[in-house]
Amino acid sequence: MRRLLIATNNAGKVREIKAILGEFYDELVSLKDIGLELSVVEDGDTFEANAVKKAREAARAAGCDALADDSGLCVAALDGAPGVYSARYAGEHATDEENNAKLLAEMEGVEDRRAKFVSVVALASGGTVTTARGEVEGVIAHAPSGSGGFGYDPLFFVPELGQTFAEIPAEIKNTLSHRARALAALRDKLSAK
Ligand code: IMP
Repeated sequence: MRRLLIATNNAGKVREIKAILGEFYDELVSLKDIGLELSVVEDGDTFEANAVKKAREAARAAGCDALADDSGLCVAALDGAPGVYSARYAGEHATDEENNAKLLAEMEGVEDRRAKFVSVVALASGGTVTTARGEVEGVIAHAPSGSGGFGYDPLFFVPELGQTFAEIPAEIKNTLSHRARALAALRDKLSAK
């Protein structure tokens, strides 16, 4: 019986991961399902390093395969910031609003507004870790719009859709998001094994 622990407390991520990786496991459980509290210090310089660290620690703690992800927003004109610091861009316990306000302030008067969301997923299984990356490109809007999503979604405008990530329905975001792309890439790697 193969069990996969999804090492996140985000219910939305759990749903997305179950839908994409369910076929490879008999049972998928979340941290909450098994009552495991994980506090991994995300101190890596890269999304890969943080995702691998989280997946390894979760697998060791639970004694089964574990999947973790790390994600963030990379802005070209800011040399890739906020990057791995996306969650705490405006300070250690910053709210989404504070992070968005800081981003808008940094981007004031900046013409090149290209940005991308990046997600790296890591699967720790039997001593080895497989990683996969997904990205989605957009531009930083001049003001927030939309009330859906979370994080930087109200400022992440996708020209092809003519909307920000906070304006499009969750079902659509979940099919084209950086996380969906990373999970699809991981699924392809697992299928090829
Ligand atoms: P984590 O990977 O859950 O630690 O997310 C890191 C941070 O990146 C979040 O707190 C958000 O600020 C940002 N982020 C990651 N994915 C998204 C997304 O899909 N929309 C908006 N912000 C995101």
